[in-house]
Amino acid sequence: MTDSPLRARAEIDLTAYGANIRALRGIAPRAQFMAVVKADAYGHGMLPCARAARAAGAEWLGTATPHEALRLRAAGDRGRILCWLWTPGGPWREAVEADLDIAVSGLWALRELLPAARAAGRPARVQLKADTGLGRNGCLAADWPDLVAAARAAEADGVIDVTGVWSHFACADEPGHPSVRRQLDAFHDALAVAERAGLRPEVRHLANSPATLTLPDAHFDLVRPGISSYGLSPSPEVGTAADFGLRPVMTLTASVAQVKEAPAGLGISYGHRYVTPGRTTLALVPLGYADGVPRHASGTGPVLVAGKWRTVAGRVAMDQFVVDLGGDAAAVGDEAVLFGAGEHGEPTAEDWARAAGTIGYEIVTRIGPRVPRVYV
Ligand code: PLP
Repeated sequence: MTDSPLRARAEIDLTAYGANIRALRGIAPRAQFMAVVKADAYGHGMLPCARAARAAGAEWLGTATPHEALRLRAAGDRGRILCWLWTPGGPWREAVEADLDIAVSGLWALRELLPAARAAGRPARVQLKADTGLGRNGCLAADWPDLVAAARAAEADGVIDVTGVWSHFACADEPGHPSVRRQLDAFHDALAVAERAGLRPEVRHLANSPATLTLPDAHFDLVRPGISSYGLSPSPEVGTAADFGLRPVMTLTASVAQVKEAPAGLGISYGHRYVTPGRTTLALVPLGYADGVPRHASGTGPVLVAGKWRTVAGRVAMDQFVVDLGGDAAAVGDEAVLFGAGEHGEPTAEDWARAAGTIGYEIVTRIGPRVPRVYV
């Protein structure tokens, strides 16, 4: 359900996205590149971003759910796609028939996949996922030899091809965190077990954005940066996006929907958490938490209106919030810029993340479906 771009719009700069991918490829020049386009390309729109990523040379696309990957196929993408978040009863056979690379984190997944691959009449492409220390999905070291052996046996039977062995970092966004080295060592151990069992995966991979940016030892055959491709830094400890030549891709703007002169002492929005300190001008911004504007940024979120940064006055409501323009003038229809590349004095998604006590990932990913994406 998308609204008119006259109310609000998320402008997506696909040229910047392509340039970010090329910059990241330059940082990991020997690795193949997987554009991570899960969660609607972190809110940027999966299909247009996938097309732009392919045009920028991405050999791979990465999604969380198999349905996201199947949507890419249905839209005509013919390249390699890895999808990694499977649940029992998933679309195994469709995934094999669509030639997806399927992440397998445990024996339960192989048990569901093997009959589906036999029914499809073609080998399934499988990428075995090791849990090297994230403690999320993936196979722990104690169970890894059994998973590897089962996969090797299925490969010998011609039911699967093991195309990859991979894992994911927990703390790469804190360079120097001791778990980073531990995970790297554990990944080497997992690879050695796979090799001893006779597996010869085409790609071994571990690097998300922070590892792509700061840890060349983790690049292996392929890197999987997500947030950095959208021009945001994974964490202040890693550096700013600009430090790596990356530029934010999304600009979120709205049209001021009402301007009014208000007396001193007027309580603003639910709960009256802001009260006008004197006579002032108020502007209404028609975006709210239903659109992904974090309610936690009530009283703190920055917005560029009439040439200056303002702060959300009072609470962010479901569909709207108010800014206090002080003595400045504005008109209905003026542009309010919540965040962008920061090159024209506007805040960035990272400023919103700080204001809301969250991360840039969440700010862009949660921009809701009511806000039209406008591709430039
Ligand atoms: N690889 C996997 C398995 C992921 O789940 C993600 C995102 O969370 C990424 C890569 C990309 O991570 P980032 O956005 O930190 O680069």
